[in-house]
Amino acid sequence: MTLHTRFLDLKARLAEIHDLNRVSSLLGWDQAVTMPPGGAAVRAEQMATVGRIAHERLTSPDIGRLLDGLAGYEASLPYESDEASLIRVTRYDYERARQVPTELRTEMTRVASLSRHAWASARASSDFGAFLPFLQQTIDLKKRYVDCFEPAAEPYDVLLDEFERGLPTSDVRAIFTQLKQAIVPLIAAVADRAEAVDDRCLYGHFPIPQQREFCLSVLRRFGYTDDGWRFDPTAHPFATNTGLGDIRLTTRYYEDNIAVSVFGSMHECGHGLYEAGIAPSLERTPLCRGTSLGIHESQSRLWENLVGRSRAAWTCFLPELKAAFPGQLDSVDLETFYRAINKVKPGLIRVEADELTYGLHVVLRFELEQEMLSGAFPLAELPDAWNARMKSYLGVDVPDVASGVLQDVHWSLGYVGYFPTYVLGSIASAQIWDKALAAMPDLPVQIARGEFSPLREWLRQVLHRHGRKFTPKETLQKVTGSDTFDVGPYVGYLTKKYSEIYAL
Ligand code: ZN
Repeated sequence: MTLHTRFLDLKARLAEIHDLNRVSSLLGWDQAVTMPPGGAAVRAEQMATVGRIAHERLTSPDIGRLLDGLAGYEASLPYESDEASLIRVTRYDYERARQVPTELRTEMTRVASLSRHAWASARASSDFGAFLPFLQQTIDLKKRYVDCFEPAAEPYDVLLDEFERGLPTSDVRAIFTQLKQAIVPLIAAVADRAEAVDDRCLYGHFPIPQQREFCLSVLRRFGYTDDGWRFDPTAHPFATNTGLGDIRLTTRYYEDNIAVSVFGSMHECGHGLYEAGIAPSLERTPLCRGTSLGIHESQSRLWENLVGRSRAAWTCFLPELKAAFPGQLDSVDLETFYRAINKVKPGLIRVEADELTYGLHVVLRFELEQEMLSGAFPLAELPDAWNARMKSYLGVDVPDVASGVLQDVHWSLGYVGYFPTYVLGSIASAQIWDKALAAMPDLPVQIARGEFSPLREWLRQVLHRHGRKFTPKETLQKVTGSDTFDVGPYVGYLTKKYSEIYAL
């Protein structure tokens, strides 16, 4: 077998594994968006089966032999080539996957699917007890998963690495400490002037069909196309895809509030643009997705906040919003609207939090996850631990578990170690934005004119097209010139923005 034939053999096997993983994504999308509840039990088995086959194929000795045989071929190719990257990343995936027995991987998938369903109904009835056995199972499985790997400095490192490769817990802790030191005084200063911003214009009666149309008009400007994307309602917004030409966004609507669906849609669109912008040559390979959740989140937060909550964007969008809801916003000028969408209001719900308090929602989850893993308290006491920390960090009283500890889907899916990536992404979004502004100084002018393609194409060029060819740190280095999550630009952005809005 020539080296090239061997490479093609590897690529063909990886294409089928990729197909199986995309089928899993589709089953997950269907479960969250269209499946009737009666399908939950058998869907869990289906997802476990597909996941098991994918895992067996990836960890098969054939893949190991092919990788061994291709080591010289890889060394002969440029590091940045698709071929060398495919071999390199596959070796990383293979070695990692081999640590985890298929039986454990299958059980994790099966429990996640059942648990997601249990979470949805427990959340609907605000009943933590109904979810507790599933959470217990999930944490037990996570501990078994951690035990599959060489002991790390902290058990949480193993879980975090799944979502943000190469970033240890101690680094995240240091980043979060820096961030807290900067934003807690800022939040306190804003709280003293809470009445300076009036956001009543965001509340009223906004019929859902018109909200959907308005959101779609924004998404189309960002890059959504009718022949390559979908946009559906769901309980917990997310973005997924089955291929470069099939990007799926979801959002949720409140009839009495226009902000939730609009900013949620912008956020998910940022994820969709990252995936849609990956080079077509990477389709049906393990390189055809974002490199990490932190980098992914840098894209969603960039479109939601740096673009979406800017004065420039609403110079373009506000007249369209007024036209979508005739008579409702007639007396609202750009300045009032801009201030309203940036009002700082410590609240219960992470996904609806303003940019300033958002980080504290994540710090709380990061800390609780480590405590759940170490058994710092019995899981039955999690709501108490949650509520106490909400009070101390954000000063809010949690009225029920639905708007408290059960608000997020992540733990039901077994995503422990995922939350920190939200803040890492926010930090990176400011670093990337600075680079975009340096490359395109008239970016705000373009945005005010409703021209978003220069930004989108720049992001595609410097970041999206690489997919998963490079590690998160390598990718960050390529875009920003630094391979670290640097809190500075993000704190600078928040300080400047809120000092102006609240006249601090
Ligand atoms: Zn996101």
